[in-house]
Parts: sequence; C-alpha cells; structure tokens
Amino acid sequence: MAKGKLIIISAPSGCGKSTIINELLKEDLNLEFSISATNREPRRGEKNGINYYFISLDEFKKAIEDGELVEYEEVYPGRFYGTFKKEIDRIRNKGKNVILDIDVKGGINVKKQFADDALSIFIEPPSVETLRHRLLSRGTDSVESINQRVDKASYEISFSKHFDKVIINDVLKDAINKTRGVIKEFIG
Ligand code: ADP
Ligand code: 5GP
Repeated sequence: MAKGKLIIISAPSGCGKSTIINELLKEDLNLEFSISATNREPRRGEKNGINYYFISLDEFKKAIEDGELVEYEEVYPGRFYGTFKKEIDRIRNKGKNVILDIDVKGGINVKKQFADDALSIFIEPPSVETLRHRLLSRGTDSVESINQRVDKASYEISFSKHFDKVIINDVLKDAINKTRGVIKEFIG
C-alpha cells in the first residue's frame, strides 16, 4: 500500500482554514486531519484528541526535548503548537492523506521536510479588514487576541509566495472548490 501524502493548509488565523478543511474532510478525498498538540486552553466545544491534543507547557517542552515533533512554533507568546511525528505516521501508514492546519512558518517548514510528498496551500483573506470582521463574528476570541491575530496577518501574508498554491477565500464556496481542485490534482 502506498503511503499517504501531506496537504498543508496555512493562513493567518481567521482566514477560513478550519471551515475549508472541515468541508473537505466530509468528502471522498481519503483525507484525515492531523491533530496538533498545543498548550492553549480549549475553546468552548473543543475536545482533547479531536481538535488538538491539549497538553501542559511542561509536556510540550518534554516532547521537544525528546524529538517527538516534526515541527513546532510559539505561534503566540507562551502558546505553543506542534505536530507529533507519530501523528503523521499513524495516518500515512494507513494509506490516507494527511491534512494539516498549521501556521505559516510551520507550513513552510513541513513542506521543506516532505518536499514532493507534500502540497502546501496558502489561504488568503480578501483584505485584512475582512479578516478582522470574520474573527469578530466567529466570537471565539477576546478583542486582545483578535488584535494580536490581525496584527500578525499582514506579515504572514508576505510569506504566501513560499507556498505551492495560493487561494483567496472571498466567496467560501469558490475557495472550497479551488482547494478541492488542487488537492485532487496533487493526489491523483
Ligand atoms: P481559521 O481556521 O483560519 O482560523 P475559520 O475557519 O475559523 O478560520 O474562519 C473564521 C471565521 O470566518 C468563521 O466564523 C467562519 O465561519 C468565517 N468564514 C470563513 N470563510 C468565510 C467566507 N468566505 N466568507 C465569510 N465568512 C467566512
Ligand atoms: P488556534 O489557536 O486558532 O486554534 O490556532 C492558532 C494558529 O496555530 C493557527 O494559525 C493554526 O494553524 C496554528 N497551528 C495549529 N496547529 C499547529 C501546529 O501543529 N504547528 C504549527 N506551527 N502551527 C499550528
């Protein structure tokens, strides 16, 4: 059985990664979500082992020391996010394709490591102001956290050229169609 491939979805927070990924996971694309580890608090409705592996800062540091992560980033001050090697292997060894929702630096890092086995996709908002509105209406983050995410967005968008594909998420349905198209082309 051939090993699965990696589909990396990166974007500033609030650009629609989760929305697009959740839609594609329902389809017949042989995808499975890579569950990351983080030391941030779960949001309302989030579950350990489904959305993330919610671990303590000490557990996170130990995983780094023990070389258990493919990559990790301190995405926001004091808040770490990373991908366990065994999570990627678990999915690929079943012959399924791994879909990752990771930050921009992490996305570039994973693409470098997996090269032709990975497709990196950057989801871009129509504008930074639209992004702020979407984060406000999502209603899951404090104003302070939203400001932090929006401030970081312009910087992150400047890295879009390092990705294999860039998709603008203006009309959601179109963005999903385009993302499905490039994934199908890649996985064959
Ligand atoms: P991310 O996972 O990148 O942080 P989300 O998928 O949570 O982003 O999307 C942020 C918010 O924007 C959510 O409330 C989502 O429903 C909304 N959203 C996503 N795409 C669109 C779109 N094309 N038009 C309007 N709202 C959108
Ligand atoms: P959130 O707190 O909104 O769930 O995620 C914040 C950011 O962390 C998002 O940009 C998300 O893509 C990123 N992220 C989630 N998991 C990982 C990971 O394993 N590695 C890296 N580098 N970033 C991640």
